[in-house]
Amino acid sequence: MATLTFKFGGTSMGNAAIIASVAQIILDAVEQGHQILTVVSAMSGVTNQLLDSARAAAEGRTAVYLKTTADLRDRHHEAARELVRTPEAQEALLVELHRLIDEFQDLCRSVAILGELTNRGLDAIVSIGERLSARLLAAHLQDRGAAALPIDATRLIVTTAAFQNATPLMDKTRARVQQHLVPLLKAGVLPIVTGYIGATETGITTTLGRGGSDYSGGILAACIDADELWIWTDVDGVMTADPRLVPSAHVIPILSYREVGELAFFGAKVLHPKTILPVMDRGMPIRVRNTFNPTHPGTLIRPEPEITPFIAKAITIIPDVHLITVAGRGMIGVPGIAGRTFSAVAREDVNLLVISQSSSEQSFCFIVRDSDSARAVAAIKAELAAEISRQDVDRVWAQENIEVITIVGAGMRETPGVAARIFGVLAEEQINVIVIAQGSSDANISLAVDSKDARRAVQALHRLVANNGAAG
Ligand code: ADP
Ligand code: ASP
Ligand code: MG
Repeated sequence: MATLTFKFGGTSMGNAAIIASVAQIILDAVEQGHQILTVVSAMSGVTNQLLDSARAAAEGRTAVYLKTTADLRDRHHEAARELVRTPEAQEALLVELHRLIDEFQDLCRSVAILGELTNRGLDAIVSIGERLSARLLAAHLQDRGAAALPIDATRLIVTTAAFQNATPLMDKTRARVQQHLVPLLKAGVLPIVTGYIGATETGITTTLGRGGSDYSGGILAACIDADELWIWTDVDGVMTADPRLVPSAHVIPILSYREVGELAFFGAKVLHPKTILPVMDRGMPIRVRNTFNPTHPGTLIRPEPEITPFIAKAITIIPDVHLITVAGRGMIGVPGIAGRTFSAVAREDVNLLVISQSSSEQSFCFIVRDSDSARAVAAIKAELAAEISRQDVDRVWAQENIEVITIVGAGMRETPGVAARIFGVLAEEQINVIVIAQGSSDANISLAVDSKDARRAVQALHRLVANNGAAG
């Protein structure tokens, strides 16, 4: 018997039929003697609808949230009718769902009246999606005779007050989980916990960032000392590339924590980059599996990488980034300019995706998301105002239409032939590499290319990976 944490994503919660399959997966695991803690995302698309509605409400566009209210009622009502057959149970579930949707509408109305939306308000609003879906799945399991219980993670996951991007306080979370969740599991209850959300110590709802239900799964798996964390999604596992971009992408059977961390950080949406953090030091295995194809073994993520012939295992892409360059002849030998630039950017809470310095010391550049670019440039210009006026720094500018492509595989950088093959393939395709990145790990090589070349570059590199290093 094992204790497993299952996390089901938005597509896996998308309609009544697939929610019934999710229930079957849980019940089959219970039948095999396992203890199962389940974490769920909102129904697919719901989080986007909630966010859009809240933002529109703040701008006085009330029709958006009114339409979302109607959509949420229809969609959840229909699923509830299909999933819960017992009349009293169905009625109780509908009351609960409508209460939550009323709460959403009231919150949006307040935002519209105030004409202002704070991140705190936004978190209260977007948390509704997971609160609805957890109740649907739990009620369905109850209807099938199981002792399921929906639980809002606001009671379990204690976080900082960084609304929209909160960080869990692991010791406090662990204490709550040990007190409230572990006894339920031991008593044979099937807890269905909301992903994505948590609360501050004083109980104010927070969220962990987009795609954060995976992270919730990792946090809770660690706190119950689970044997494994299984991420159930809509593809067979972690693949050699995003299958939407590269149809011939295939599942990678084994990846290390570091490899999957790089993949996730550099754009593979299949797993939230922080998911591995809480489970890494326990060496807890993570499996990525397909709700729609549950017999496929999926991907196993473990501490050590698997040695494969070509070492490079997967290609990822981050679209919509800007390349910011700081250049000036007067920078040569002037210490501290790079450090001050990065501090200025960090104060704006901007994430640097890739950093690169030219050997001449006359410039350095780094890559940020397009949404962060203007803020980063303004902060640097303010910080370096004196150097700019003395013309020690000539220019600070952002180049658009850039995409970051990353090749991932542990040990890649030390293995001479690999980088040579990668650049060889790009040269054959006549793709101009704008920046080559110096990341901190040996498991990735990142490059920036012009957007017009990006898709071709990914496909060419993918052929290389898929053919184990032979250009095909
Ligand atoms: P969920 O709702 O289950 O959390 P997501 O949509 O967040 O699912 O993540 C799964 C999706 O990630 C897949 O449908 C796929 O399109 C995308 N994806 C991007 N890169 C990869 C990759 N390397 N391997 C697998 N899926 C990927
Ligand atoms: N529902 C949230 C989102 O769409 C969290 C998740 O699905 O992981 O971002
Ligand atoms: Mg996801």
